[in-house]
Amino acid sequence: MPDIAIVGSGPAGYYAAEAAQKRWGDAARIDIIDRLPVPYGLIRSGVAPDHQSIKAVSRRYETTALSGDIRFCGNIEIGRDITIADLTACYDAVVLATGAPSDRPLALPGDTSGNVFGSAAFVGWYNGHPDFALLDPDLSSGTAVVIGMGNVALDVARILAKTRDEFAGSDIVGHAFDRLSTSALDRIVILGRRGPHQIMMTPKELGELGHLARAIPRVDPDDLPPLADDAALEPGIRKSVTQLRAFAQNHDREEPGRVPIDFVFYAAPHAIVAGEDGTIAAIDVEQTRMVDGAPVGTGIVRRIPAALLVSCIGYRTAPIPDVPFDDRAGRFANVDGFIQPGLYCVGWARRGPSGTIGTNRPDGYAVIERIATDLESGDWPARSGRAGFDALVQARGLDTVSFDDWKRIETAETGRARTDSPREKFVVVGDMIAARS
Ligand code: NAP
Repeated sequence: MPDIAIVGSGPAGYYAAEAAQKRWGDAARIDIIDRLPVPYGLIRSGVAPDHQSIKAVSRRYETTALSGDIRFCGNIEIGRDITIADLTACYDAVVLATGAPSDRPLALPGDTSGNVFGSAAFVGWYNGHPDFALLDPDLSSGTAVVIGMGNVALDVARILAKTRDEFAGSDIVGHAFDRLSTSALDRIVILGRRGPHQIMMTPKELGELGHLARAIPRVDPDDLPPLADDAALEPGIRKSVTQLRAFAQNHDREEPGRVPIDFVFYAAPHAIVAGEDGTIAAIDVEQTRMVDGAPVGTGIVRRIPAALLVSCIGYRTAPIPDVPFDDRAGRFANVDGFIQPGLYCVGWARRGPSGTIGTNRPDGYAVIERIATDLESGDWPARSGRAGFDALVQARGLDTVSFDDWKRIETAETGRARTDSPREKFVVVGDMIAARS
C-alpha cells in the first residue's frame, strides 16, 4: 500500500486525499503537508468571507481528514524546510496541490505606486492570510479601480461596497472589518479590456451587486451589444449579460450617500499615475475595439482618477526549487498531472486558475488513478515512507501542527469571534501555533 504526500491542504489537496483513500482504503498512508499551521487553503483565505455557504465545503474536507490513515502536517514549507528530493525519497508519490497563490503581474508603468495591490494580496488581507495581514490599504476617499471582469473582481468590488451591517454572518477578519466599516470611497470602477459578451463573471455572483444596501451597479447602455446578439451566447454568460442589461437601467442614477459601481468596458490599462506622495492618483486606460475576439488598442487614452487599485487579472503557481515550471502558463510543467516519476500535480497547480471549487474533485480522482496505474505498472523502488519523513522532521527540529492541533486552533478562533461572526481568525502564524495548546 502506498505512502502518499500531498503538498497543499486546499480543495485540490483534500479531493486528492479523498480519492486516494477511496482507491486504496485505510491501508494507504496519506500525509497532507501545508506551510501554514491551518488547513483548507483557498477555502479559508480565498473564498469571500461573506460566502459562508461556499466555505461550508470544508466540512467535507474534515470528514476526509478524519477518515482512514490521513494526517495533516501543518507548518512545514516544502522547498524551505524539506526539499522535493527529500519528499520523493520518502513517499511513493508526491502530489503538488499548492494552488496559484501569486498575482499575475500587471506590468504597467507606475505599478509600484502606493495603494496598488494584486488580488492575492488584497483578498488575503480581508481574509486574514498571514502573508498579507499588514497590507494596510487606504480606503479614506476617492475612487477604487478594480481591474478584471472575473469573479475575483466581483468579490473585491462587493467587499469594498458593503456596509458594516452587511458583514453580519461573515468571517471577515477584524482589521478589515474595521477599515471597511469606515471606508469613504465614493466610487468603484470595474475595468475590462473587452466587452460585455467577454466577461468571466457568473450570473449569481454578478446578481449580488444588485442587492447591496448602498451601492448602485451601473453599465453604460452604449457599451451593450444589440440584444439579438445575446442569443448566440452560452446560457451562463447570457444570464450574466442579462444582468448587465438590468444594471444599464441605472446608468445615470445618482443618490446621495450611495456608491456607484461603474462597469467600464473596452478599456485596457495603460499606465498608473502617481501623485507627489507616490500613491496612485489615476489610471490611464486605452480605448480598445474588438478584432476577432481580441482587444486591440485604438490609441485613444483617457484618465480615470483613482485612489486605490486592485488588479484581479489571474494568478500564478509559486515555483518550488527543482520542480519543472511552465513560466508562460504560470504553473508546474506537467502532462495530465504527471511531472516526473514519483511527482504529480493537481488543481490550479496543474491546470492554472480556472473553474469552480468542484472542478478540483475530478482532477483529484484523475491524478490518483494515474498514480495507481504508474505504481502498478512500473518499478516501485523501496522508499523510507512516512517513517522516513517523520525522521527528517525530527532531525531538522521542525514543529508540525496536526489535525487535532488545528481543531484546538479552530475552537480558539470560534471562541474569540465577534457577535454575528462564526470565527475571528488568527492572522499571525505564531498566534496560530500558540493557540493549539
Ligand atoms: P478570471 O475569471 O480568469 O478573470 C480574469 C479577468 O482579468 C478577465 O476578465 C481578464 O480579461 C482580465 N485580465 C487578464 N489580464 C489582464 C490585463 N493584463 N489587463 C486587463 N485585464 C486583464 O480570473 P479570476 O477572477 O481571478 O478568477 C479565478 C477563478 O476563480 C475563476 O475560475 C473564477 O470563476 C473562480 N472564482 C469563483 C468565485 C465564485 O464562484 N464565487 C469567486 C472567485 C473566483 P480577458 O478575458 O480580456 O483576458
